[in-house]
Amino acid sequence: MRAVSVHTDALVLTSGMWQTNAVALRSGSEAMLVDSPYFPDELELLPGVLAQAGFEPDGLIATHGDFDHLLGRLAFPGLALGVGELTAERLQREPGAAQRELRDADAEFYVTRPRPLALGSVQALPVPGSVELGDGELELHPAEGHTGDGLAVLAPDHGLLACGDYLSDVELPMISPGGSLAAYRATLARLGPLVERCETVVPGHGSPLERDAALRVLDEDVDYLDALERGDERPELPPGRDTGAQRKLHAENLAAVG
Ligand SMILES: [Zn+2]
Repeated sequence: MRAVSVHTDALVLTSGMWQTNAVALRSGSEAMLVDSPYFPDELELLPGVLAQAGFEPDGLIATHGDFDHLLGRLAFPGLALGVGELTAERLQREPGAAQRELRDADAEFYVTRPRPLALGSVQALPVPGSVELGDGELELHPAEGHTGDGLAVLAPDHGLLACGDYLSDVELPMISPGGSLAAYRATLARLGPLVERCETVVPGHGSPLERDAALRVLDEDVDYLDALERGDERPELPPGRDTGAQRKLHAENLAAVG
């Protein structure tokens, strides 16, 4: 797990699994953790790594209901998990789905865990809306299209946007079950002005990006969605994302929107 300070009061922790990012945000004596790393050793180390940097989370937020973003309570079992209303509905509609998908991924990667994932009492947050953090607040913006749920966290005092599975420099836009091309496009259109307000964009997977780099990825993603909508079987993929794995992902996207 890599820890990178992107602001005096913001720390990004990148998991060795899929470059999954967790973001710790601090204001005054309060802190919030958005999303989570994946591996058991990373989750075990997380409270210590954060405490050493002066972050002691009072709450957890997950950007969406995919299992790889929901693991915060394995590191902080005493904290409530805040999610958008649509994510809360999704978790209620599919009880045990996140746990099942986590077990499947663990089996695939030969990962064993000391205990199973318990989501506890999930707290539904209004989106669009905001949550207080210390002297300031975090803005919650809708971010659907990758899945049927999703939110982006904008921290105005930190100049930071944690957008969930959008604007990744390592992963193509992914249309998963519940997601759609139209909703994905609407989210990209919504994220543009939010990116303009920030210095740093932290995608769910990949590198924290400076504003201009994030806007470049956004443009590449719009172009990619155009190719996907046309049904191109072998579109030109953006630099850094032209790999066999992303070609496979593209084939899955074609099947999902076809
Ligand atoms: Zn993800």
